[in-house]
Amino acid sequence: MSQPKILLLGPPGAGKGTQSSNLVDAFGVEHVTTGDALRSNKDMDISDLGLEYETPGEYMDRGELVPDEVVNAIVEQALTSADGFVLDGYPRNLDQAEELESMTDLDVIVSLSVSEAELVDRLTGRRVCEECGENYHVEFDQPAEEGVCDECGSELIQREDDQEDAVRNRLDVFAQNTEPVIEYYADRDAFVEIDGEQSLDAVWADLEAAVEDTV
Ligand code: ADP
Ligand code: AMP
Repeated sequence: MSQPKILLLGPPGAGKGTQSSNLVDAFGVEHVTTGDALRSNKDMDISDLGLEYETPGEYMDRGELVPDEVVNAIVEQALTSADGFVLDGYPRNLDQAEELESMTDLDVIVSLSVSEAELVDRLTGRRVCEECGENYHVEFDQPAEEGVCDECGSELIQREDDQEDAVRNRLDVFAQNTEPVIEYYADRDAFVEIDGEQSLDAVWADLEAAVEDTV
C-alpha cells in the first residue's frame, strides 16, 4: 500500500514540526517542511526576481512570508521525489493552496489549534537543533542534557524569528494569510481538527488515530 499524504496545518508554534517527527517514525513518510528548506537557503541570491529583498533570510528574520515563486518551486521539487509525506509550513496563503492542488492529492488534512498566549510561550521558549532540525522547549520538552540535541548531539540554538517581536509579527501574518487556508480546507472529508493545546502525547494519540483511519 502506498504511504499516506498528510497535510499538517496550524499557526507557528502549534507543534507541526514536533508531531511531524512522530509521523516520520510511525508511518515512514518524508517530512517536507518549507521552513527548514528555506532556513538552509537563507542566503540564496533571489535578486534576479526583482522582489523587495534579495535573500529569503531577509523576509524570514522579520517574520514575513517568503514570496510564492520561491516557495512553490521548493515544494514542487520535494513532492515529486516523495511517495508518502507530511507537508508542514505550506500552504500559507490561498495562492499557495491553489498551487498545491496542481501538485498532489492529500489523504488527510490536519489542523492543530492552539490559543495565541500559548503560542507565544511555546515560540519564545523553543530551541532547535541547528544540525538535524529537532525541536525542544526550555520548559515543556527539555533535552536530556541542556543545550544538546538528543538525536544527534549537536548544539541547540534559538531561532532569530523566535524573538518576541518577530513572533508577534508571524502570528499576525498567520491570522491574515493562513487562517483563510484552514477555512479553504475545512469542509473537506479529509479534514480533521485536533486540539493542539493538549500534552505532546495526547496530541500524538489523536494525530496517529486520524492518519491510521486513512491507511
Ligand atoms: P511549529 O512547527 O508548528 O512551529 P513546533 O513543533 O516547533 O511548532 O513547536 C513549538 C514549540 O512548542 C517547541 O518548542 C515544542 O517543543 C513545543 N511544543 C510542541 N507541542 C507542544 C505541546 N503539545 N505542549 C507543549 N509544548 C509543545
Ligand atoms: P516555519 O519554520 O514554518 O515557522 O517558517 C519560518 C519562516 O519561513 C516563515 O516565517 C516564513 O518567513 C518562511 N516560510 C516558511 N514556509 C513558508 C511558506 N509556505 N510561504 C512563505 N514563507 C514561508
